[in-house]
Amino acid sequence: MPGTELFGKEERKEVMDVLETGILFRYNHDEARKGIWKARTFEKEFAEYHGVKHCHMVSSGTAADYVSLASAGIGAGDEVIVPPFTFIAPVEAVINSGAIPVFAEIDETLCLSAEGIEAVITPKTKAVLLVHMVGAMADLDAIIDVCKKHNLILIEDTAQALGGSYKGKPLGTFGDVACFSFDFFKIITAGEGGAVITNSDEIYEKAHTWSDHGHNHVGDNRGAEDHPILGTNYRMSELHAAVGLAQFRKIDFIIERQRANKKVLKDYLKKFPQITFRQLPDEQGDSASVLNFFLPDAKEAERVADEMGNTGIPAAYWYNNNYHYIKNWEHLKEMKTAAPVALKFFDVPQDYKTLQLPKSDDVISRLVSINIRITWTEEELDDMCKKFDAILG
Ligand SMILES: *Cc1c(COP(=O)(O)O)cnc(C)c1O
Repeated sequence: MPGTELFGKEERKEVMDVLETGILFRYNHDEARKGIWKARTFEKEFAEYHGVKHCHMVSSGTAADYVSLASAGIGAGDEVIVPPFTFIAPVEAVINSGAIPVFAEIDETLCLSAEGIEAVITPKTKAVLLVHMVGAMADLDAIIDVCKKHNLILIEDTAQALGGSYKGKPLGTFGDVACFSFDFFKIITAGEGGAVITNSDEIYEKAHTWSDHGHNHVGDNRGAEDHPILGTNYRMSELHAAVGLAQFRKIDFIIERQRANKKVLKDYLKKFPQITFRQLPDEQGDSASVLNFFLPDAKEAERVADEMGNTGIPAAYWYNNNYHYIKNWEHLKEMKTAAPVALKFFDVPQDYKTLQLPKSDDVISRLVSINIRITWTEEELDDMCKKFDAILG
């Protein structure tokens, strides 16, 4: 969690700017805010970094998933192809948007594969919600081809891969719209927060309008603004934007440190013949926030992750995790929701309870991930390599 390792005077200064004017709201109050616009500045810098026309900041990464779906016109009864290996937020966003998640197989990229996507397309498929998982990119060329061929909207959930790229172009700039998260466990944090980026004027207009009760954000008289559509509230506060902005300005340093520390551990692990690595369609573009590797079978992967965890290495075995892989999503399989959701009234092409994803099971059951810290010292890295010898040698 690099962002959380780096809190400093930069974050405090941005927050104090806001507290000194007392304008915690991101819109209006033009005079009283004395030129302090943290959300707006964060949006400008985030869009520039990605080389896109528009960015809209929202209250969370999950909100960014919702806003991406709604702004791309996806709602009741639409089928959206999603991965079974993802933090569950985008799947919840699809369901709570009234749409229907359709799970496709992943491959050793740890992301949806083009083949997997193509196998579950139906006449009702409207979009692919592609998650760039655990730090790096999906096989974008092949996936873009499938989306074009079948006229599908491509949404990139880049919550776990900020700072990554593919063939020199930032992740999040390949589809129609992309979403990011700045929760406490992501590459940078705002406490809570998210971003939506797009090159489409139409999607952007819907994104900022829908996230703020339909306000069109023209002029400084909030009560008199036009409301072209009904909306909701996913606004980012100025305090969150202030923290996020300070953190975002450290992104180049964060990525550089992640890459350096990951390289030490990955190079060392190469000497163990039983280990293979996550497939990276463009190794140069890895954000390097996570080191992902495979063991020959599930039993060995679980043992290795357990023993690493016991010795203080931040290792994860996602196959048994409750939030990142479909196997333990009993609430989804039983459709346990707070209130009836729209998909109960549509034909759902998959029975989530009996759904089999053998390829994904095989990949995730053999996967071990180590979260990369940016503050590791050389001694700590050496020490981890010695532990690798004991666990894998
Ligand atoms: C964390 C995460 C989200 C949700 O972000 P929050 O800010 O926690 O709401 C969405 N998608 C993915 C892939 C994530 O990892």
